[in-house]
Amino acid sequence: MNDFLPEDTIEEVRQHFDLVEVISGYTSLKKAGRNYTGLCPFHSEKTPSFTVSPEKQLYHCFGCGAGGNVFSFIMSQENLSFPEAVKFLANRAGIPLPERQLSEEGKKIKILKEELAEINELSMKYFRQALFKTEMGKKALSYLTGRGLDKEIINKFQLGYSLPQWDKLINFLKSKGYSQDNILKAGLASRSERGSYYDRFRNRIMFPIFNQQNMVIGFGGRVMDDSQPKYLNSPETILYNKRKSLYALNFARFQMRERDQALVFEGYMDVIIAFQKGLENCVASLGTSLTEDQARLLRRNASKVIIAYDSDTAGEAATWRGLDTLSSAGCRVKVAQLPPGQDPDDFIRKKGINTFHEEIVKKALPLIDYKL
Ligand SMILES: [Zn+2]
Repeated sequence: MNDFLPEDTIEEVRQHFDLVEVISGYTSLKKAGRNYTGLCPFHSEKTPSFTVSPEKQLYHCFGCGAGGNVFSFIMSQENLSFPEAVKFLANRAGIPLPERQLSEEGKKIKILKEELAEINELSMKYFRQALFKTEMGKKALSYLTGRGLDKEIINKFQLGYSLPQWDKLINFLKSKGYSQDNILKAGLASRSERGSYYDRFRNRIMFPIFNQQNMVIGFGGRVMDDSQPKYLNSPETILYNKRKSLYALNFARFQMRERDQALVFEGYMDVIIAFQKGLENCVASLGTSLTEDQARLLRRNASKVIIAYDSDTAGEAATWRGLDTLSSAGCRVKVAQLPPGQDPDDFIRKKGINTFHEEIVKKALPLIDYKL
């Protein structure tokens, strides 16, 4: 994959950036003689052992041994491959990259991915309009505020609402020039047995799912009453692979790294309410059986992982499998225990975030004790 990036372009990108400036976006650096020092962004520490040399444009950590140049720094901080890191920085610098020579098939996939990403982005905006600007949306908005969410957090997570009709979103997207087929491929439409298309999400609170580059790759939709299914998610698409994503990782990874600790919830609402209360190292697994890919994502950002599932699912076989997967990935796993019948969202709203932290997070049991 490397070959489509000419050496001189890579060099141009490298020279464009001052490493001190780039790293300052991740940890604060202080001048110390010829170098700069700060707390290491790769491991958790209280006294600085991380050094950046402006002359050599290299960094090194005497604590954990991390070291390298601007590319290796971005690769590990942003979880990117080398070509992706070059692209990431080139974008930021406004340096054009030569198009990679793709096969015909590869070109088609690339174009389709771009179009599905546009469809997702537009749909997210449409759902937000519906939440804030329609009569039906008022009910959804008051449902959210009734559950304790404020405007700021609703905006941060870009929550929205899907109208109850069968064709609102499809018609909107068609009016923007997108085909029913691609709306189906984006996972926003379903097709009936007779072959007609209809909106997959209707009368639901909409939670966009972002990848780590903040691109919308899918959605979760939650009902506001007791109808079933309570949650409906996007199907697998060429953008959304459920086994490889963690909800809110795009927001949570910074605090995860800082604390070297990740908190894993089951659902969207748990994460959002926790963020609103200032607990920002949490993600949702959207299912209880954590996959190997999800475990690796967590391990890249934190070595300690605390699972805080709803009390009634914590003991399920799927949960146990997920815990073992996490241990195998090298995470130190703890399991938080909630009072019977409660989920983290309930608990935080009723007892407050401090009590949640003291009573639930801090008292989480190491996996081995939990199993006994
Ligand atoms: Zn370090």
